Amino acid sequence: MRGLMMDDYQLTIDAIARRAETLFGRRAIVSRRCDRQVERSTYAEVLTRGRRLAAALHALGVRRGDRVATLCWNHRRHYEAYLAVPRMGAVLHTLNLRLHADELAYIVNHADDRVVIVDASLLPLWHRVAPQVRVQHVIVVQEDGPNGSPLPEGAHDYDTLLDAAPDSFAFPALDEHDAAAMCYTSGTTGRPKAVLYSHRALVLHTMAGAMGDGFGCRESDVILPVVPMFHANAWGFPYTAALTGASLVFPGPHLDPASLLELMVTERVTWAAGVPTIWLGLLAALDAAPGRYDLSALRGLIVGGAAPPPAMINGFAQRHGIDMCHGWGMTELSPVGSIAAVPHTLHDAPREAQLAYRAKQGRPIPFVEIRARGEDGLVPWDGSTLGELEVRGPWVAASYYESDEGASRFTDDGWFRTGDVVAIWPDGTIEVADRSKDLIKSGGEWISSVALENALMGHPAVAEAAVIAVPDPRWQERPLAAVVLKPGATATPDELRAHLAPQFASWWLPERFEFVDAIPRTSVGKFLKSALRERFADSAVP
Ligand code: ADP
Repeated sequence: MRGLMMDDYQLTIDAIARRAETLFGRRAIVSRRCDRQVERSTYAEVLTRGRRLAAALHALGVRRGDRVATLCWNHRRHYEAYLAVPRMGAVLHTLNLRLHADELAYIVNHADDRVVIVDASLLPLWHRVAPQVRVQHVIVVQEDGPNGSPLPEGAHDYDTLLDAAPDSFAFPALDEHDAAAMCYTSGTTGRPKAVLYSHRALVLHTMAGAMGDGFGCRESDVILPVVPMFHANAWGFPYTAALTGASLVFPGPHLDPASLLELMVTERVTWAAGVPTIWLGLLAALDAAPGRYDLSALRGLIVGGAAPPPAMINGFAQRHGIDMCHGWGMTELSPVGSIAAVPHTLHDAPREAQLAYRAKQGRPIPFVEIRARGEDGLVPWDGSTLGELEVRGPWVAASYYESDEGASRFTDDGWFRTGDVVAIWPDGTIEVADRSKDLIKSGGEWISSVALENALMGHPAVAEAAVIAVPDPRWQERPLAAVVLKPGATATPDELRAHLAPQFASWWLPERFEFVDAIPRTSVGKFLKSALRERFADSAVP
C-alpha cells in the first residue's frame, strides 16, 4: 500500500528560494566589494535580480541542463547566480580561482560551460584561460564600476545585462533529480573529476546540516562564509542561510584576519566558516590584541576541510571564549559528512574532554552511513583499528561526471571510498588519522602525520607544522616535520622532539625538522604536502 502524501513535491533549490522570497525578503545580504566598500542588500533584492539574471541568461540561449560557470569571489552577485542558475534548470559550475589557467581550461572544456560569469578583478586569469576554451558568452561583474581594464571582446557587463532584463522570468517546474550544480575535485591523483549535485541532494544536505547537532542554524543567525563559494558550494551555507532565513555576510576577496574581524564585529556575525589555516591566522591576530574585538555575537567558528589542530581549538576556547564547531566533508559529499557536536555523555565532563572531542571529526549527520575497511575487511568500531572510510547517503556522489577514472572510488555494493584513513569509536565518532596518501609507512607500521602535526602545533613556539613521509633506505619511509615558528620565537629540533616524546612511541618521532617561512597551500588553503615532498624527498637522512 502506498502512502497518500504529496510525495511528488519536488525538493529543489527553487523551493528554498521561494521560502526565502516569501518569508525572509527583508533579511540582510551584506557584501564587501573589491574596493572594500560594504554593500547592503536583501533576499528580496537578490532574488529579484536573480530573476533578471535568469531572463538574461535565457536570452543568451541558456537552456535546462546547460552549464553556467562562475569565476568569482564570495559576494552578493555570485549569490544571485547561486540561486538563479539552478532555479532555471541550468547547472551552476563554480570555478576555483586559485587554479592554474591550463587546469581551468581543462575543466571548462570538460564541463562544456556555455557561459562564464567572471569578476573584473579576475580578468587577467580569464584572459589566459579564454584562448583555450569554447565558452559562448562572458559576463563580467564590475561591482565597483568599470575599473579601466578592457572587457574581453563581446563580453557583457553583469549589471547592464540585469538592468535591461525583465524581472518576470517564470522559473520552470523541475524534477528534484535534475542537476543543480557541479564542482571539480582538486585532482591530486589524475585529472580533476566533477561531482554533479542534484537538487534533491543539495536540499537534503542543507536540512541535515542546519539541524541542532549540525551547524544549528536559525533565522536570527548572521553567517559569514569565508570558505570560498567555489569550495564545495561554500559547504552549503548559501543554501542553509536561504532555508533558515539567516543573514549572509560575504567577505569578497578580503580574507586577511583584520578584514574578517572588522566584518565580524560590525555585522555582529554569529557563525563564520573556514579552513584551519584561515582560523590560525585569526587566532594569531586575536592573541596579538586581546579584548580589542567585540565578538560577543559569535556563536562559534565553523572549521573543516582539514584537521584542525587541538591547540587552535583550545586557544580560541581558553583565551577568547570562542567555540569551534568542527565538521568533516568532501566535495563528493556536497560536502558535509560529519560534525563533532559534543555528545550528551560528555556534557558533565571537564571542559578539556569536551574540547578534545571537538578535535575529532564527530558523528555522521543524519542519512550519512559510515564504515571503514582494512586489509582484512570491515574494521571494528573500537576507536583504534584503522581502515579506509566508506560512506553512502542521499548527498554522496554515485559516480563522477563523464569520468571512467573515478570508477575505482565506488565499491561494488554502492559505497563511496573516501581515501581517508580513520578509526571509528563505538559511538560512531570518526577520527581521521590521515589521507591514505599522506600516511607514513615506517618499518611496516603506520604513522599518522596529522597526529604529529597536531602535537607540534601545541608547542608554544610553533605557528604551523606539516609532517610528510620521506624515503628511507632502512625503514622505507620516515616522518619529516616542516615547521613555521611564531614571529620572534625559537625552538631547536631537539626541543621539538622532547615536546613530542611523551606523546608518541619513540619510532614515531621525526629525525628531521625543517624550519620554513611558510607551508605551501593548496588552492583551497590546505597544507600542500605534495610540494613539501618534492622539496625534501630526495634529501633523506644518511
Ligand atoms: P581537496 O582534495 O581539494 O582537499 P575536498 O575539499 O573535497 O577536496 O577535500 C576532502 C578531504 O579533505 C577529505 O577527504 C579529508 O582528507 C580532508 N578533510 C576534510 N575535512 C576534514 C577534517 N575535518 N579533518 C580532517 N580532514 C578533513
